[in-house]
Amino acid sequence: MFEIAKQRLSDVFKHIDVEEEVITRLSVPKRSIKASIPVRMDDGSLRIFTGYRVQYDDTRGPTKGGIRYHPRVNEDEVTSLSFWMTVKCAVAGLPFGGAKGGITVNPKELSQLEIERLSRGYIRAFADVIGETRDIPAPDMYTNATIMGWMADEYSIISRQQVPGIITGKPVHLNGSEGRTQATGQGALFCLNEYARRQGWDINNTTVAVQGFGNAGYHFARLAQQEGYRVIAVSDSSGGILTPSGLNIDDVKQYKDQTSELQAVYCDGSDCKVIEHEKLTNEELLELEIDVLVLAAMENQVTQENVDNIQAHTILEIANGPVSPQADEVLYAKNIQIIPDVLANAGGVTVSYFEWVQNRAGFYWEADEIRAKLAKIMQRESNIIYDLAIRYETSLRTAAYIHGIERLAGAINQRGNCK
Ligand code: GLU
Repeated sequence: MFEIAKQRLSDVFKHIDVEEEVITRLSVPKRSIKASIPVRMDDGSLRIFTGYRVQYDDTRGPTKGGIRYHPRVNEDEVTSLSFWMTVKCAVAGLPFGGAKGGITVNPKELSQLEIERLSRGYIRAFADVIGETRDIPAPDMYTNATIMGWMADEYSIISRQQVPGIITGKPVHLNGSEGRTQATGQGALFCLNEYARRQGWDINNTTVAVQGFGNAGYHFARLAQQEGYRVIAVSDSSGGILTPSGLNIDDVKQYKDQTSELQAVYCDGSDCKVIEHEKLTNEELLELEIDVLVLAAMENQVTQENVDNIQAHTILEIANGPVSPQADEVLYAKNIQIIPDVLANAGGVTVSYFEWVQNRAGFYWEADEIRAKLAKIMQRESNIIYDLAIRYETSLRTAAYIHGIERLAGAINQRGNCK
């Protein structure tokens, strides 16, 4: 996966003149750590989990990136994700390098207390290498604010002082930031709105399907619907639902929270009724005849196998790496535009940056200030990238990489500590 992720760099170097040494520096992670995390299970037995932290590049600042809990987590995946974080922080213009962490675990099989012990164990294992001016973790797939709160607490116990800026994505009541939960979905919507404005779309006549109903997918779908887009289909790991006239996302979420089932519903207070709709598989959702396909689930969803069936004219990548490089080429040839992950999902880490700034200053901002600051960054970076794509006659992804790599190369050259 990492070798494939790096292929994106070669497209960039065709367009911009970057020194060989910069390429050499950017082709390997700075530091990669693996640790065993022993956990006492509820039944008294001992289990050992494997945890990772890869700090890819810290030229532009302390490294930054989430921690993922998933059965498929491995060093190769974490390395690729840390590479994308490096590019993403540069694209968003944040003073951070990139990192990523993870534990190979299926959190659905663990109790809350076991997850708490595992999360605290992760911090004990990696306390020496993280730090608010070194490497700052955050949530990712199957981790959340509660877990970040436990992790921040464990770090404060170890270091015998309050260090809220050690981790971001914490609960608002525990030094978290307003707006962090919806930040990824909100940021993606700002990118899409800028694109829609430049293309002259009528938002109210724009149909959208969203793959993934986790934190990012749900908030995106909810905010997009509020904005006026017609969100006609959503899916989670169990499959999808479709209503051509548009779903009520708040109701769908309320029902899913109550029953764990994804259904098209109408809710009156706490009373929800299932309404007529079509059921879809995740594969069918990807192939719908819609305007915008939003990929908010996980890596490698659009690949050589299904790329020819994609009918949307625009793809918004909220997950990291949901379109394979081979599929990318096919889509570009067919003039299907992809608003790439390193731009589209940068809203999450951008509000993480705001959280870190607030923690270090000890001064907290209001929700509308956060939203306005996020809008400014996402709109500015989106327009730079959309302009670069026109100037270099490339895909939006290559344009985003050109933008990020130019910032990174500038930093590497000016630091020059390996020359
Ligand atoms: N896990 C998120 C991402 O992939 C957020 C990272 C962060 O906030 O540091 O961008």
